[in-house]
Amino acid sequence: MAITRYAAVVALCFVAAFALSTVAQRLDNYAYDLMSARSRPDWEPQSVVVAIDEQTFEAKGGTRSMRPILSEALDELRAASPSLVAIDIILHDAGDPDEDARLERSLRATPNLIMPCEFVGQAWEDPLPRFAPSDPRRIGHVEWSTDRLDGVTRQIPLVHEEAHQQRWALSLVALSVARAQPISVSTASNDVTVGNLAIPVPGGKDRRPLLIRYLPYGRIPKISALDIDKRAGEIRGKAVFLGVTALSAARDRLVDTYGESISGVEAHALAFETLAHADFLVRARDYSVLLVSLVIAAAAGLIFGLLSGWPAYLLDAALLAFASYYLPVFLFHRGIVFPYTPPAAVAWLCSIGAGAYQYIFVRRQLERTESERSRYQQAIHWAAHEMRTPLTAIQGSSEIMTRYQLPHEKQSQLSEMIHSESKRLSRIIQTFLDVERLAEGQMELKRELFEAGDIVASCLKRVRPIADRKEIQMTLENPVEATLIGDRELMEYAFYNLLTNAVKYSPARTHVRVFCDSEDGGELRLSVQDEGMGMDSKELKSIFKKFYRTKRAEASGEVGTGIGLSIVEQIVTHHGGHIGVTSEPGKGSCFTIVMKAQVRASGNAKTTDR
Ligand code: ADP
Repeated sequence: MAITRYAAVVALCFVAAFALSTVAQRLDNYAYDLMSARSRPDWEPQSVVVAIDEQTFEAKGGTRSMRPILSEALDELRAASPSLVAIDIILHDAGDPDEDARLERSLRATPNLIMPCEFVGQAWEDPLPRFAPSDPRRIGHVEWSTDRLDGVTRQIPLVHEEAHQQRWALSLVALSVARAQPISVSTASNDVTVGNLAIPVPGGKDRRPLLIRYLPYGRIPKISALDIDKRAGEIRGKAVFLGVTALSAARDRLVDTYGESISGVEAHALAFETLAHADFLVRARDYSVLLVSLVIAAAAGLIFGLLSGWPAYLLDAALLAFASYYLPVFLFHRGIVFPYTPPAAVAWLCSIGAGAYQYIFVRRQLERTESERSRYQQAIHWAAHEMRTPLTAIQGSSEIMTRYQLPHEKQSQLSEMIHSESKRLSRIIQTFLDVERLAEGQMELKRELFEAGDIVASCLKRVRPIADRKEIQMTLENPVEATLIGDRELMEYAFYNLLTNAVKYSPARTHVRVFCDSEDGGELRLSVQDEGMGMDSKELKSIFKKFYRTKRAEASGEVGTGIGLSIVEQIVTHHGGHIGVTSEPGKGSCFTIVMKAQVRASGNAKTTDR
């Protein structure tokens, strides 16, 4: 039962943590950016960015001269012999006829040229046919995916299929041209391939996203279009990405994972570098995230289920460190992007849940055993104390009898005493054994008929000497006219206990009343009412528990073990009856036993038993 409840707590924590983690994407992003920054790539760039920057526009007549600038840059680039030229300026509209004619010539003369396109609204914006490369595979799209939550661009879609046309990303087309190998999709693994390079990007709605590995800013040489001549050496043999970087003219700017604002053309160059160095990051699949989180939850559950104290805390600390640090970092270094929050949230919440549950459970258990042990010790003391009186009497009497020659009368008096005291002793032992066996359900109750009035009278008689000592008046308010079925000895023990308690927990010169009340349905209600210390409602809930004693009873100095009432309740319930109590602190208590009985019509005489 406890195990099921514990497992349920851990499972609940798991579900809560997992649900929470799915909405904590910002945290995942943050962790991703941090890990990216910690493991910046250190490659030798294979590309350069040729930038049409502010200076270029200033020197060449502003943005209106875009096409002449482009023509000039292409002509100069040709002389620098790059491995390819990828342009990030969409030439979708016609411009000045002379300028367009010149640009067309420059474009046609540029070897390994890659042109951009973009899907806008409902259609593809391709370069005008006069500008377009003769091979349509040399057109690549220039889109990227920006995270809606924080505006950071972490990936680009390698493919975009729209209006029945499939376009690969400009950077991927550039790689294909650089390697002189075609782009295809592996039927076996569904990876995108360029020759024998497999790019692990899953298909589906997300258009095969490639996570861009951002180099530290400035690692890819950025050459102003004005400086192509001067820096031709840096361009030779490199893949050139040619585009606008001037803030005033570039409409495509994005934020990288370091929080830097970069131009689109630089992002395409970085995507190209990621592909060229085959430094791929792959996002972990949803089911593996769920599986790992489940294992972590189970581990947290097992740690606190099987261990306790420091070993549990230490092992759990290791689990927390593993789930919220080592696991994502380790996997990141192996090219797997594992979302940060699910394992971390599951580890923390399940650890807190499991730890708290075990702490409370173990502490409660400990408290319970502690108090039971101390009460049990008290009970043993009490039993020893109860037995000592008859034992002393027996011992003393037998000693006197063996040592001295006593007159016959004295001798028979002493043997009578030994006899009655040993009977008392055996009754004490028998009662305890009976009650224990009763509690364990091992004993069949005797089923004899006896008069309720007889046991009441006998108990009143036995308690009278104790009451007399405190000058407590005991009255039987009305005669008890009912026959009960069951174990007479046990019922007498029960009633005797109520009477002795009433006397024990009442101050001197008070009044204890016994009255009975019977109903037509054959129910006998036997009550013992005192004017004693009473109990409050909280205490009333516990007095039938084994070994429980109220603070007032403890403080009164009356010896007790708190076992009597639990025995009384067991006896009464085993007889098919029940016991109730009403009480008020300082005013008194009234215990009532309700039993099935054969009730006879009764008179209302009042008897005083004093
Ligand atoms: P014991 O008398 O040995 O302590 P019992 O099981 O008979 O054990 O009673 C349990 C506790 O219930 C007592 O310790 C006392 O605190 C409280 N109690 C029982 N009867 C009375 C009573 N008549 N008045 C006040 N408190 C009572």
